[in-house]
Amino acid sequence: MNQIPDNFISVKERIAAAAGRSGRAPDSIKLVTVTKGRSITEIQTVLAAGVTDIGENRVQEAQQKYEPIHSSLAASGLQMCEWHLVGHLQRNKVKSALEMFSLIHSVDSLRLLAEIARRAEGREQQAEILIQINTTGEASKFGLDSEDVFGFLEKSQMYSGVRIVGLMTMGMLSSSPEVNRPAFASLRTLSEKITAEKFPSITMQYLSMGMTNDFEVAIEEGANLVRIGRAIFETTI
Ligand SMILES: *Cc1c(COP(=O)(O)O)cnc(C)c1O
Repeated sequence: MNQIPDNFISVKERIAAAAGRSGRAPDSIKLVTVTKGRSITEIQTVLAAGVTDIGENRVQEAQQKYEPIHSSLAASGLQMCEWHLVGHLQRNKVKSALEMFSLIHSVDSLRLLAEIARRAEGREQQAEILIQINTTGEASKFGLDSEDVFGFLEKSQMYSGVRIVGLMTMGMLSSSPEVNRPAFASLRTLSEKITAEKFPSITMQYLSMGMTNDFEVAIEEGANLVRIGRAIFETTI
């Protein structure tokens, strides 16, 4: 627990160094601290250390944490944090998701997109989302295949309740971060192609890629949103 603030500082330093290697400013990279499986106390510790964005992968788990976290932030006079949904979203959880999350990273079907749009319109809101892409070809992974993205984007234009603001991908679990470099580079290339198409109302503001194992490689390949859990919460050996 005591190590959390130090871990946070060292992760920020590693992000800054990787940003420097790719010719970007440290603060152009947004860090989402992934708090799935972490206790309220652990989350309070990272928030006190300066974390502003937290990520959960399940709606139900986030619901249990949302109120306690927000009341403790209010009690200590700290600014509210932003909540990111990084895991798979089921359509029957969309309503609850929109009540908590400011960015949904994991949209991978038109049916889900349509439901998010419908619920967001009901709330007179435009939901910001990222399209999850399966860049590794693993059958076990969620995400659209790259070749299906343009068709998806064309059809997405009819849903005014959502705003697509970027792409997300997950690398392979591997002991070597280099294994995921081609996947990360392919996501960046895809985002550049999408930008070149100039779809009205679609932006490629965010490239969400990179976790504990591979965030530095992801940043070198253009990530500006990294999702990190273990490097912040776990004791380093
Ligand atoms: C758990 C998770 C992360 C963080 O993974 P770490 O290896 O703990 O850094 C990032 N993204 C998603 C989608 C996750 O489920």
